[in-house]
This record gives sequence, structure tokens and C-alpha cells, in this order.
Amino acid sequence: MSKIAVIGGGIIGVATAYELAKLGEDVILFEKNYFGSGSTFRCATGIRAQFTDGANIRLMKYSVERWERLEEELESEIGFRQTGYLFLATSEEEVEAFRANVRLQNRFGVPTRLIDMAEAKEIVPILNTEPFLAGAWNPKDGKANPFKTLFAYLRKAREMGVDAREHTPVIGLEREGDEITAVKFGGNGGMESIKVDAVLNAANAWAPLINAMAGLRPDLVPIIPYKHQLVKTEPLEGGQVEPLVCPPSWNDAYIIQDGEDGGIICGAGIEHEAKSLDDYEPTYDFLRGVLRYAVKIAPPLRYAHVVRQWAGFYAKTPDRNPAIGRLLDNLYIAAGFSGHGFMMAPAVAEAMAELISKGRSKVPLDWEWYDPYRFERGELRTGAFQIG
Ligand code: FAD
Repeated sequence: MSKIAVIGGGIIGVATAYELAKLGEDVILFEKNYFGSGSTFRCATGIRAQFTDGANIRLMKYSVERWERLEEELESEIGFRQTGYLFLATSEEEVEAFRANVRLQNRFGVPTRLIDMAEAKEIVPILNTEPFLAGAWNPKDGKANPFKTLFAYLRKAREMGVDAREHTPVIGLEREGDEITAVKFGGNGGMESIKVDAVLNAANAWAPLINAMAGLRPDLVPIIPYKHQLVKTEPLEGGQVEPLVCPPSWNDAYIIQDGEDGGIICGAGIEHEAKSLDDYEPTYDFLRGVLRYAVKIAPPLRYAHVVRQWAGFYAKTPDRNPAIGRLLDNLYIAAGFSGHGFMMAPAVAEAMAELISKGRSKVPLDWEWYDPYRFERGELRTGAFQIG
């Protein structure tokens, strides 16, 4: 049994701590604030395999299969529902691009198909079909409750012996050669230190700061926080916008009905590089911009009151694909998930836990694609298809 420190109590860190415990490892999990307080509790609930490159489609197909079994495995209700993603095309060129994406996704076993607007209207009764020519529809995509999912993983992890500590920031790493030997952390009792056999950096937007603690250049894995926002309406009767609906050519705007309380969550690609890692202030410009799109997609939303607006980070690498892999002999990273860390967590956590514990994994994760050293080599991947 090895002593493994996981840094970051978002969905990636918590799920990986759970998977490591399943493999019999002795895990200590550090979160500097409260669990979920980074990007995870700000997310829009969406889960999709509709990507536009093989690596992300294959990973997400596997992740969706894990999501399908997660409630049973974690013995908790997590609000996972396969209500689909519906992308909408506004031009013939976009219909052609959708057709190519559908072919690629089908090749990996993802059952996306092109649908006409009559079928789209059956799926989303309040949809304004007039501006759109066709939809790309995968009924296996879906959504889950980020709060319940993180707490379900955390509860199980603790039951299996994970020492999960919140309000406990990691403040330093001790390194000998290419090995991390100890983790220094703060908390109520002042500074403490613990000897470790391996460390996972799952600090997402804060990951470069952890890499710097290991003596690595902070820009070795360049992750930049972009402020992304959402607004949510009062609860509406279920069944109106169950899938995530997104016309990508409208600034990646999207709407999705919260599977639990019926509020409509509205997002858009109105993003700014965050001023700092505390820059959570929502803006009026976003509110105005996103509602304009939401009402164009589903006109009855003009009568719904907004009850919440919030901001969080897309922690973005230059190619919007995460960095997943080994940085030093016993230092690993899974960070920089842009808008996709929640949906990818079940697959990435399993893969990362197996890599750390056994040196290899059966999860279909393309390690070369996500290699954290690709930036240093100047080998950017095709940009991961990001919305919002
Ligand atoms: P985080 O949740 O950010 O966790 C990292 C944690 O590390 C933080 O809690 C932080 O406090 C902690 N930490 C940092 N430094 C230290 C330290 N020194 N010591 C200890 N702890 C430390 N993804 C989807 O899949 N689907 C969506 O629909 C979706 N919608 C989104 C909408 C918005 C508006 C935003 C902002 C994001 C969205 N995302 C979505 C992205 C998703 O939220 C993230 O990719 C995911 O939550 C990343 O999880 P994580 O565990 O890597 O990071």
C-alpha cells in the first residue's frame, strides 16, 4: 500500500481519491477551501460524447458508460439522466460539419444522428425552430447534479478510508531528484508535513502553482483561468428543455433545464481571462447577452424570472484539452479541463488511479493526446470542442 496525496477537492481529485482507495491505496486528499468550491460547483451539469476528435469522443463514450453505473456503484442518487444534447445548425456549411461529426462519432459507437426541426420540436417543445436547418442529436448524452455527485464520491471515499481534509491548503512539496518525498500543508494546527509515495495535482486552475511548488516552471503546463458565467431561471415545469440545446454559431450559447429543480440554466461563450484566481464577480453584460440568446432559442423564456447568476473558471490549456499524465517520477497531473471536467471525471479518475497504482490503465484514454509535456514540445492538439 502506498501513501498517495491528492491535491484539489474538486470532482477530479475527489473521484480519483475514491478510485485509488478502491485499488487499496492509502490516500490523503487536500482541499484548500471546501470540497467543490473551485469550478465543480459552478458547472452547468452537462455530460456529452459529442466531441469532434477521436480522443475526446472515445474517452467520453467510456465516461458516459461509467456515469450509467455510478448511482449503483456509489449507492447514492446523483441525478444522472440521459436527456441528450441537441446542437442546432444555422447554415448549410454547418449542416455539412455536423454530418462529418456524426460520422466520426458513429465510428466510435456514439449514436448521434442528424434530425430535422419537426423532430427537434418534439424533443424541445418550446424551441424556436425557424432559424435552424438541422440538429445533431445524441440521446445518450445527459446531465447530473454536480453537488450530489461530488458528495457521493466523497462519502464513498471516506467510507473506504480516504483521509479527506478541507480548509487544508497544500503550501509546499519536498523534492529529491525527480521524486516528491513530502507534502507540506497548512490548516488549523499551523504547518504540517507528511511523507508520500506519490502526488496527484488535481488543482485545475491552480495547478501551475502546485507545479511551481515542485520546482517546475508554472508555464510547463500552461493553464489560464477564463471567467465563465451562468444564469438560472425560477423552476419551470419539467420536460420543456430537458436536453442541452446549443446553436454553436450563436456564440456557443446554450440552455438546459436543471434535472432536479426545473430551473433553466443559460450559458454562452462570453468569456474573459479572469483578473485573478478570486475573480468570481458576475457581470451585467453577461446577463444581458446570454438572455438575448436564450430567448431566441426558446421564446417563452422571456417570461421566466432569473433567480441566480454566478461565475467560475474554465481552466484552459492552449488547445483546450486537459493535461493528464506523469510530470516527474511520482508526480502526476490531471488538470486544465476547460468546460469538460465534470463529464470526464468518472473516466479520468479511474484511468489516473490505475496509472498511479499499477503503472497502466484499461480505460481508453489516449495518454499521448493528453500528455502534459506536449506544450513544451510545441505539439498542440486539435482544439477540444468547447461550448459556453
Ligand atoms: P476544481 O473543481 O476547480 O477543483 C480544484 C480544487 O483544487 C479547488 O477546489 C481548489 O480550491 C483546490 N486547490 C487549489 N489549490 C490548492 C492547494 N494549494 N491545496 C489544496 N487544494 C487546492 N464541465 C462539464 O463537464 N460539464 C458542464 O456542463 C460544465 N459547465 C461549466 C460551466 C461553467 C460556468 C464553468 C465555470 C465550468 C463548467 N464545467 C463543466 C467545467 C467543470 O466545472 C470543470 O472542468 C471541473 O469542475 C473541473 O474539476 P476539477 O476537480 O479539475 O477542478
